[in-house]
Amino acid sequence: MKISYHSPHEPNCSICKKQCRFYDSLREHLIGPLPKAECAKQFSERGCSLCLKVFPTAQQLNNHRAACQSLPPLPAISGLRPSLVNKRNQAEKEQILEESSNKSNISGIAMDCEMVGGGRDGSLDLCARVCLVDEEEKVIFHCYVRPPIPITDYRYDVSGIKPEHLMGGMPLKQVQEKIQQILYNGEAIWRIRLKGGKAKVLVGHDLDHDLQCLGLEYPTHLIRDTAKYIPLLKSNKTSNSLNYLTQSFLGYKIQNGTHDPYEDCVAAMRIYKKMRNEDHSLSATEFVPENGVYSRMRQKELEKMSPEALLQISQSDFYCWCMDSR
Ligand SMILES: [Zn+2]
Ligand SMILES: [Zn+2]
Ligand SMILES: [Zn+2]
Repeated sequence: MKISYHSPHEPNCSICKKQCRFYDSLREHLIGPLPKAECAKQFSERGCSLCLKVFPTAQQLNNHRAACQSLPPLPAISGLRPSLVNKRNQAEKEQILEESSNKSNISGIAMDCEMVGGGRDGSLDLCARVCLVDEEEKVIFHCYVRPPIPITDYRYDVSGIKPEHLMGGMPLKQVQEKIQQILYNGEAIWRIRLKGGKAKVLVGHDLDHDLQCLGLEYPTHLIRDTAKYIPLLKSNKTSNSLNYLTQSFLGYKIQNGTHDPYEDCVAAMRIYKKMRNEDHSLSATEFVPENGVYSRMRQKELEKMSPEALLQISQSDFYCWCMDSR
């Protein structure tokens, strides 16, 4: 099958319809450096600097702006003193977990880890804190993690983690079990790998690294990573920072000083939802490849296909997150 690198899933200029592989390229096209003059002019009058869409009238842009711009979330866990976090009893934690696994309407879970250093020079990343947030931005699991090997650098300036935080931390093994319970809904991993199962979509920034530090695996087709998603990459195909993405797409700053895993989870979740809500006006014809094998496939049949199968026959060469909202 011939793969076209232009599809309705790629960011495009509302004015000249030019398709870009990355939002960063579209931003350059509309704002600069070296923008296309006519598009830049219209964009400066009626364009939204966050989603890069251009509206027919200035009034429509004004109406849109309030919905496009988000405010930083209120701290949900960072305000807790270490002693309180540690004393939070097990029953309460279990209950939080219970409620979240019963809620069938949750489809995405954002996760973020804070790392401390291990090894002789402190360069080995060890997960010391983990947070999981649902689509409504509620914390469904948060704990300090007791790493399995000695910590040689707490990296306090970034991690905000002190020895007393980890004293009552949960052993890594137990943390792994909790996270698996949340993500897999108690289903076996093989079932999820083969059939999609009832597992959650895992959202985050550079999740491979977080998963590796947690000693966990997760099926690739269920990962929505803001550091890997093609439209969110820099034009040289490397990852943008979560801070940059949050400023560019959500309109506020994060990670001022020590990192707050809740804040990072919320940012990744909001960016994911923003990408998922993109209206790419899909139609069945879009899935028709050159050789016409799928030309008689009806929309209903396409809808029943797994995300992987859809990707294979779709004309874009990446899985567009808008497919998650179908
Ligand atoms: Zn799309
Ligand atoms: Zn243009
Ligand atoms: Zn916008």
